[in-house]
Amino acid sequence: MDTQILCPQCKSISSQKFNLKDLNKKIDDDCFTYYECHKCRLLFVYPIPENLSKYYPPAYYPFSSSLKEFEKLCEGEKYKIDIVQNFLKKGSLLEIGPAMGVFAYLAKQAGFDVETIEMDEKCCQFLSQTLNIPTIRSDDIATAIPSNRSYQIITLWHVVEHLPNPWQVLDRLVGALAPGGFLLLAAPNPHAFQFKLLRSFWAHLDAPRHLEIIPPELLIEFLKDRGCNIVFRTTKDRGALGWNVFGWKHSLSHLLGSVFSPKITHQIGRITSFLLRPIERKEGWGSAYTLVFQKYPVSN
Ligand SMILES: [Zn+2]
Repeated sequence: MDTQILCPQCKSISSQKFNLKDLNKKIDDDCFTYYECHKCRLLFVYPIPENLSKYYPPAYYPFSSSLKEFEKLCEGEKYKIDIVQNFLKKGSLLEIGPAMGVFAYLAKQAGFDVETIEMDEKCCQFLSQTLNIPTIRSDDIATAIPSNRSYQIITLWHVVEHLPNPWQVLDRLVGALAPGGFLLLAAPNPHAFQFKLLRSFWAHLDAPRHLEIIPPELLIEFLKDRGCNIVFRTTKDRGALGWNVFGWKHSLSHLLGSVFSPKITHQIGRITSFLLRPIERKEGWGSAYTLVFQKYPVSN
């Protein structure tokens, strides 16, 4: 009965860490168990819920009714284009999990030749019909990656933690990168100051949607073994700073929700976040990281 749970990445022994409900979206009352690998420190949900799509209802995706309304969302994501263009001004770009496609749209406007893979039907329609961005609809990224194409940049903005098979997907993505191409990943940071304090109340665990919370060192090692060097890492870009505030607002709702209304807990979260800025804005301590890798220009 008491079987050992092995790490999905390095196959080492792992131990139970938290039992959590879906605190963020409250889709149901089920409990999900997070394990931590003794060796590589990966934090993962086991078993993975069979009906994962249940935890991504249509309301999960913020939706704009018009292009004009959609364009208003773009302002907050322009920093992503700045990060990308530090490495590549134009070229072929594959985005995994674009949702409605704010970044994909901005990348297209900036001159990139953009394609996407997305699982939500309504988002796919918007991407392909309204934004005219070629989109493959699939919830199985590893098999959906086109085998006859190669890309100069592939981006996963807060997607890798949602994948049931991230290591297989990353392996395939490295294969789809052109020599000298870039792979960008942003994800929740298990070294975050917030996580040290809040533990199972940390909103960025987002059970059961965040299936693996991956230490950045593990990604760096995994991708180095596959011929990709880290060229940029931060926990301080504009998106990551926003996730710090989000983390406090929602984590404190989980902690204090039985005492205060959401309006008050969000206010307390905002103040807490402001007071802790000097700590959370230290490099490495923020709630989310952004990493950029470059594939060795010459393949063996
Ligand atoms: Zn491991």
